[in-house]
Amino acid sequence: MTLAPYACNPAQTRGRRYPQAPAPTRTEYQRDRDRIVHSTAFRRLVYKTQVFLNHEGDLFRTRMTHSLEVAQLGRSIARSLKLNEDLVEAIALAHDLGHTPFGHAGQDALNDCMAAFGGFEHNLQSLRVVDLLEERYPEFDGLNLTFETREGILKHCSRANAQALELSEPGGVAQRFLSHQQPSLEAQLCNLADEIAYNAHDIDDGVRSGLITLQQLQAVPLFDDFRRQTLAEFPHLQEAVQGRRLLYEAIRRMLSAQVYDVIAATQAALDEVQPASVDAVRQLPPLVQFGAEMRAKSKTLKAFLLPQLYRHPQVLQTTGHARQVVTDLFDAYFSAAHEMPERYQRRADQSGGTDPAAVTARAVADYIAGMTDRFAVREHERLTGLRLLA
Ligand code: MG
Repeated sequence: MTLAPYACNPAQTRGRRYPQAPAPTRTEYQRDRDRIVHSTAFRRLVYKTQVFLNHEGDLFRTRMTHSLEVAQLGRSIARSLKLNEDLVEAIALAHDLGHTPFGHAGQDALNDCMAAFGGFEHNLQSLRVVDLLEERYPEFDGLNLTFETREGILKHCSRANAQALELSEPGGVAQRFLSHQQPSLEAQLCNLADEIAYNAHDIDDGVRSGLITLQQLQAVPLFDDFRRQTLAEFPHLQEAVQGRRLLYEAIRRMLSAQVYDVIAATQAALDEVQPASVDAVRQLPPLVQFGAEMRAKSKTLKAFLLPQLYRHPQVLQTTGHARQVVTDLFDAYFSAAHEMPERYQRRADQSGGTDPAAVTARAVADYIAGMTDRFAVREHERLTGLRLLA
């Protein structure tokens, strides 16, 4: 498979923070992917909530299955555009490693707890996981991934966080947020594959949970056009008993349409500007994109899902409990660091800095962010005597 000149080439990687000899049979991005799959944080994704809390049903997406779907969509598009599939896969599998338990409710609560200590942001946390928190190698912390994989993992970054990162790694992965450049096409692609994946699976999980209906979805052309198209071809799917097949077939068509749309729109943009290298890509506006019509349809879908699913009263009720679990855990560990495992106590103790409270708070946030939903619930019960979300 030949790579396009604007694809990331593992032979020309900007390298790892700790230089390592090349592997005999694998490229640098294959190695990154393998390190991610073998990490502890990756295994934990299976017990972390995407939208529906983990215990609410066995068939809803978790962060793990979401990440696998992003990798599948990303690779499929990458192959078509002659981008680097291995790099796309590595970024996709790592993109959510920094997520707290309980989905966005957990992240919002932890961000509030950390307000006085620089906040909490899951993209930056994903980078902390692969740079620092995984303890697997004798000579260094983290997984020592290549620049290109790390660049893709740090999808967003506030200016303040970018400035702090830039101090510790001059000219590194945070620089583009200060100089307003784009990441590689592979990183741009993972961003859009993420969106395509959750557009589809949130409809799927939302309908199967009973929180949204096919009737309501008639307001969403991105889905409903394909539901009507499917029914026109297969009228027997009208019967209530065939509702799932209708749902799946409409989603399948919706996914394909988005994938082909991204390939066509992105290829057209690439043909127009013809970037000669990855560095040229970084100087240009974002190139991986939906066409204008698909972009508008995707926005309409999001505008539907926000009130109808993400802020559904039943979802909000559990997110209230989730916030309480995270907040109580934070308060408990912050005032009694010895309740954490030894390696986090050691992180909390790393004084020498000017702000010991901030050091402790960051260690507590690292510990909580790494928890699975069910572990957080058990710890909360152990520390407070309250049994929530179980
Ligand atoms: Mg994601």
